[in-house]
Amino acid sequence: MGEHSAITQLNLTSARLALARLPAAPLGEALKCACKIASQALDTRRVGVWLFEPEAQQLRCICLYSPDGQPVPAPLPMADIPSYSATLREQRYLATRDAQVDPVTRDVKQYTSQHGIHSMLDAAIYRAGSVVGVVCHERQGPVREFKESECEFAVTVADIVAYLLESDQRLSLERQVHRLEVKLKDAQRIDAVSRFAAGIAHDLGNLLTVVTTGLQVLEKQGAAGDVVKMVREATNHGSALTRQLSRLTRGVSTDKDRQVLRGRDLKETWGTLLGAMLKAPWVVALDVDPEAQVWADAVQLEQVLLNLVFNARDAMANGGTILVRFKKHDEQFARIDVIDTGVGIPPEHVADVFAPYFTTKGDQGTGLGLSTVQFLAHEHGGRVDLSSAPGDGTTVTIYWPVSAPVTV
Ligand code: ADP
Ligand code: MG
Repeated sequence: MGEHSAITQLNLTSARLALARLPAAPLGEALKCACKIASQALDTRRVGVWLFEPEAQQLRCICLYSPDGQPVPAPLPMADIPSYSATLREQRYLATRDAQVDPVTRDVKQYTSQHGIHSMLDAAIYRAGSVVGVVCHERQGPVREFKESECEFAVTVADIVAYLLESDQRLSLERQVHRLEVKLKDAQRIDAVSRFAAGIAHDLGNLLTVVTTGLQVLEKQGAAGDVVKMVREATNHGSALTRQLSRLTRGVSTDKDRQVLRGRDLKETWGTLLGAMLKAPWVVALDVDPEAQVWADAVQLEQVLLNLVFNARDAMANGGTILVRFKKHDEQFARIDVIDTGVGIPPEHVADVFAPYFTTKGDQGTGLGLSTVQFLAHEHGGRVDLSSAPGDGTTVTIYWPVSAPVTV
């Protein structure tokens, strides 16, 4: 091994270290740094990250590094590069001394000649077992050979780029889940406030009826004049306001939003929903009878499920499996069980957990989850049952009607 190859070896080793130390976010910056490190280590100057976009049927450059800041090139239509993409799927990398004459890269000849690229080393980016893109190390100057160790280095760069892309996607999923959780909490607050307002409107309406009746009695007894008139007008106005408030706060969902939902459909939607909302170390096991059915507003039923599953998750600080079961209970009711093996609820709290605003989670809790669950179950004509063994876990069971109530 000559002195020159010893130096390259050292370069590659320190470049690998620099790549390993790259912070993953923000993605654009991380990719640019990775390309820059690679361009210095392989002395290729121009390094780009390209991704296959199956919908648009093209290979698109999402990041290009060159010391002189060359612009990102236009996407290449997949139809124009069939043998180049096939080679990338069959080989971990593709190295060529001169891309402009090599038959393997004849597909991309137009691109290479347009940009004055000769020697080229392209390594496939893999994700879940398939090729999703490529990192291209391109040399615009005189031709050169790529050594085995350099090709292996290019593979490492592609793997790190794959990791950066995946971290970015995971982060954005996490952000999405967080936004959904915040939205759910807001929805619970609005629900609670409207229920409170509906209660007040109802009680106030009753009080105003008493006042109106009293006024009628007074008028019959001959009381007249400005004061009675003023009170009557104010009362009428008050009644109109409470009617308006009642209309505004009346149940968000009506019978027309409710329908028969079948286990086989719920299994799929719940699976997707819970899969997106829960991540390791928490897992949901779904045990759904495809033949069972409920009569429900699907969105509200999901709201119920999410609240219970989130509570189960919160009860298992170190993670674990949450069992969600959906079965027929009897001719009238289906039953949904959400079972955790978490901390459980101490006997002195069992009576309080359904009360609005009761929470043991401090700022992290709203205390509105279980009260919403109970409200929605009751609204549909169902009921909620809870059993808990401190230290062993909690089971919340909901009995939910299988069909619309028969009105006579
Ligand atoms: P929050 O989750 O915002 O605290 P909830 O109404 O959903 O409000 O729950 C109220 C309280 O009931 C929780 O703070 C917790 O103490 C208790 N709780 C609810 N579900 C569970 C469960 N599966 N395991 C243990 N405790 C629970
Ligand atoms: Mg909760």
